[in-house]
Amino acid sequence: MPYDIAIIGAGPAGATLARLLDKRYRILLLDKRDLLEPEEEERSKCCGGLLAPDAQKVLGRMGLAVPAGVLVSPQLFLVRTIDFDNKLERFYQRFYFNMDRRRFDEWLVSLIPPHVDMGMNCRFTSLAEGNEGYEIAFIHGNRIYTEKARVLVAANGAWSNARRQVFPESEKIKRYIAIQEWYETTEDIPYYGAIFDSVVTDFYSWIIAKDGKMVIGSALRPTKDAREKFERLKNELRDFGYVFGDRIKREGTYLLRPRSGSEIYTGNDHMALVGEAAGFISPSSAEGISYAIRSAIALADSLNKGIEGFQYRYRKNLKPLMRNLTYKRLKSIGMYNKTLRALIMKSGILSIDVMTDPE
Ligand SMILES: Cc1cc2nc3c(=O)[nH]c(=O)nc-3n(C[C@H](O)[C@H](O)[C@H](O)COP(=O)(O)OP(=O)(O)OC[C@H]3O[C@@H](n4cnc5c(N)ncnc54)[C@H](O)[C@@H]3O)c2cc1C
Repeated sequence: MPYDIAIIGAGPAGATLARLLDKRYRILLLDKRDLLEPEEEERSKCCGGLLAPDAQKVLGRMGLAVPAGVLVSPQLFLVRTIDFDNKLERFYQRFYFNMDRRRFDEWLVSLIPPHVDMGMNCRFTSLAEGNEGYEIAFIHGNRIYTEKARVLVAANGAWSNARRQVFPESEKIKRYIAIQEWYETTEDIPYYGAIFDSVVTDFYSWIIAKDGKMVIGSALRPTKDAREKFERLKNELRDFGYVFGDRIKREGTYLLRPRSGSEIYTGNDHMALVGEAAGFISPSSAEGISYAIRSAIALADSLNKGIEGFQYRYRKNLKPLMRNLTYKRLKSIGMYNKTLRALIMKSGILSIDVMTDPE
């Protein structure tokens, strides 16, 4: 018997959808990672792991509170903006939960009710469209398995192979290579560092402290010199005074930055895309967890009213999120224009003074 709904990807979007879907449906949820059991080499989504206010709000609306075990030290309520283009620096107050991203994903998966069939360590590879939905193929161990579903949901992130197979033109969505390196450090970094340098990237770079480690990250255009630009960033940070020792790990992944609503893919009558697979992520800050969860809520609501006509209802439900993306695109014009950013930072508007220890 075919599944009613098969979801590929158990990140924030897929796990939230699986949790909210009506139990009258037969549901399959696949992920290439094992988010139910500890893995030998734990695979974590390459992410800053900061839960921004919008994401906190949507979790609260669903009656969820983040367990302490998901958090790492320190908790952050300050952004240090370092603008190498304009040689300016400011502090702003903003409240984040600083998390271990893998533990966050595991927690969301632990909330999924037992009527959902979960296939962990299952890597989706291909699909074929039929009269009544899709047949999907995935690898578990050394074997290939197939399953049929009336609705296929691609929740497998920025570089979704399901999206690219059904909508090959989606390769054109503006994308970046995000690199993060983890370092040993003895430095106290009681803020989230946001770094602007237009030679390194037309987006931004960041510094985050996590349990005594320092994460340096950057969203870079996917060009041959991306690595070089990342090295330049690290040199600039050293010159600026940051001290970091041996690298513990390096990770990388794609990151989308949709330029308009036409770069959002919601699917068709038998397929839905949700979270970053659909293109939902902030083009100003690359905050994606709130978008993943909010698009999953929109899709769950439309599917729980029936499979017939779900795509129409999904698009309707997404209207507030689409408006929010337009607002974030407009915001990024100010943030990423050197002159405008200098004016805003020099004005000191909304910034706060931070006291330094006497020498
Ligand atoms: C470097 C970086 C830093 C970021 N920092 C932040 C941040 O601090 N705060 C924030 O809110 N957002 C951040 N984002 C964005 C955020 O990580 C994503 O937008 C968010 O995780 C999207 O959630 P999702 O559920 O749509 O996809 P994902 O979280 O990417 O989840 C996709 C899931 O699909 C699985 N999967 C992928 N391919 C397959 C396959 N073929 N078969 C089976 N399973 C598959 C993966 O294992 C994964 O579990 C960051 C992004 C990057 C790249």
